[in-house]
Amino acid sequence: MRKIDKQQPPQLFTSWVKEKPTNINQNQRFEQLHEQHQWGIVSALRESLSAEQYYLCAYCCCSISGEQKDTMNEHVEARALAPQRALDYSNIVASCKNLGQCDNAHKGKPLPLTPLMPECETELKFSISGRVKGMTTRACVTIQTLNLGDTERNNRALIEKRKNIIQSLLFSEGLDPDDRITLEDDDIVYLLIEELKNIENGKLRPFSPVLINVVNNFK
Ligand SMILES: [Zn+2]
Repeated sequence: MRKIDKQQPPQLFTSWVKEKPTNINQNQRFEQLHEQHQWGIVSALRESLSAEQYYLCAYCCCSISGEQKDTMNEHVEARALAPQRALDYSNIVASCKNLGQCDNAHKGKPLPLTPLMPECETELKFSISGRVKGMTTRACVTIQTLNLGDTERNNRALIEKRKNIIQSLLFSEGLDPDDRITLEDDDIVYLLIEELKNIENGKLRPFSPVLINVVNNFK
């Protein structure tokens, strides 16, 4: 995960929230977006969230387009648990639509570690095997809830995808995880991390936060 710095909500959404009738609650107002086919507002929301996340899924960091085909507006604190936060832009992120993980796995469960917390970048540890491990209890719970690939049995597809991306990066940089890191490699690692933080046309490289996490463990 990568810490998300929330920006301002899109104007269309803000106006919609302001027009909420007093006899309904926030969650009912959010549901009206779909009931009343307010697709312009739904897609403005999705696009705005995707842009502030540099077009990476809030949870697994795969690439998202910001369009309906592969991107969801997702509540970090689930609407079932916090209906009063259903219209709170700081509680909404963009998630991928991959089955069995992220938004699709989250449902109404609590998330003790979220991409709105800076610790999300350090309490999850990725290895060159492609697997992820929680360094704290809350990280383990979040990994399980979102099914982020702690074991092949749980999410082989995601682990394989990460493994391939990690290995091709290490190979292209001439970094051998089995070798001891030398002083010279230290510079490569530093430059590589800077490169992985690079934003091009408003986009981060798919899985770049995962790659940074792996490379950081080389130091
Ligand atoms: Zn995802």
